[in-house]
Amino acid sequence: MSIDLRITGGTVVTPTGTITADVLVADGRITGLISPDTPVADARRTVDATGKLVLPGMVDVHVHTREPGFTHKEDIHTTTLQAAAGGVTTIYGMPNLNPPTTTAKHLQDVLDMYAASSIVDYNHNPAATVADEIEPMVALGVNSFKIYMVVDTGRTYPHPAGTGMHGHGDLLRMMDTIAATGTRFIIHPHDQHLMDYIEGEYLARGDNTPQGYAQAYAARNGVIWDTAIEVVLRLAEASGCKIHLAHMQTRRSVEAVQAARARGVDVTCEVNHWLPFLSTWDDVERLGPYALSYWVPDDARAAIWDALRDGTIDIFASDHAPHTREEKEIGWTEMWSAHTGTPGIQYFYPLALDAVNTGQLTLQRVVDLVATKPAEHFGLEGTKGRLLPGHDADIVIADMDAPWIISDSGALSKIGWTCYDGRSCSVRIERTFVRGTEVYADGEVTGRPGHGQLARGR
Ligand SMILES: [Zn+2]
Repeated sequence: MSIDLRITGGTVVTPTGTITADVLVADGRITGLISPDTPVADARRTVDATGKLVLPGMVDVHVHTREPGFTHKEDIHTTTLQAAAGGVTTIYGMPNLNPPTTTAKHLQDVLDMYAASSIVDYNHNPAATVADEIEPMVALGVNSFKIYMVVDTGRTYPHPAGTGMHGHGDLLRMMDTIAATGTRFIIHPHDQHLMDYIEGEYLARGDNTPQGYAQAYAARNGVIWDTAIEVVLRLAEASGCKIHLAHMQTRRSVEAVQAARARGVDVTCEVNHWLPFLSTWDDVERLGPYALSYWVPDDARAAIWDALRDGTIDIFASDHAPHTREEKEIGWTEMWSAHTGTPGIQYFYPLALDAVNTGQLTLQRVVDLVATKPAEHFGLEGTKGRLLPGHDADIVIADMDAPWIISDSGALSKIGWTCYDGRSCSVRIERTFVRGTEVYADGEVTGRPGHGQLARGR
């Protein structure tokens, strides 16, 4: 067999531990992990990874590409420039687009856009609001659906008409529909009626600040999250639907997931980039609207870190959510009018590896969180998320001792800013390969639009 690529001398992180091995790649797949002194004829290219880590690429199941509909913020090409630079080799796009991804026709259009523009592999999380569209969308290759538990107001942004569902009967009916397909149902947990009351108190006293907004979403130990999560988990138990919870950020939600699993509910859950790296009160004070997303109080953050370490939380996903400076600036005085969410796909993996250097997570946990578990639970078994023979050669080479400073000038997002500007990071992504093709090397994105393919399991 002729070998296209041999990555030599690195420390390879497999699902069961690290080994010193050379990685052999042919036809886009890993064909072997061999001892570095084993001679192999015909390796067309050799890359020296001595002293470096050889890791699986991140499978990021929560990415807002903004295309179609909001391409003044971002598009598929610019999203995947950042993915390549950040060691992300598969993205799952989100449905709050214009048109929102609610039908097989809209889904096919979006998949065509990825095929033309994406540098890395991709899949998509359509909105599950039209029962008759679920099976046709599964037939197009998706592994998961998404809804926001918001009251559908018909606004175009951030939760466009057709992407919200909050009635318990509607949720159970949709879970029955999705359960029949074996795919996973991603829920953004939210209790709009509670939130109307809570935020009404802030707005009634004229508090429209980032601090007020931050406190409102975390109010009463996160009651708007916890009540929604309890309902979702109970309905998952009643339907047998596989559930994925976005935005884990309260202590009670961790306990709820543990209890549901003990009852046999198939629930996975994610933490997004801003929680471990950007959600202290100091961040809210300093960055205001640019830091929000959400504020996570210290006690809740401690519970989430524990749950990341013990495996209760099984997935890291960026929730990359870019907005222009103009859309953010208004938030200093009118936070409830600002677009919330922050860009993060370019820096998540290096910052997660930095957390290994600071002792907050083990290397094995990080690889589980960014690659092994998302691939396993989002339909990519046998292809993605593991550096093992037979899997796609989605490979990242990282230097764990290469300090640098994150800056706006290096951000590849269309919006030209990063909430991590000025932050130091001890880990550098040196190279990224997607199915054996180098898409990022030494500071330059080398992959081309159209290289990405629809990510499927085998
Ligand atoms: Zn999101």
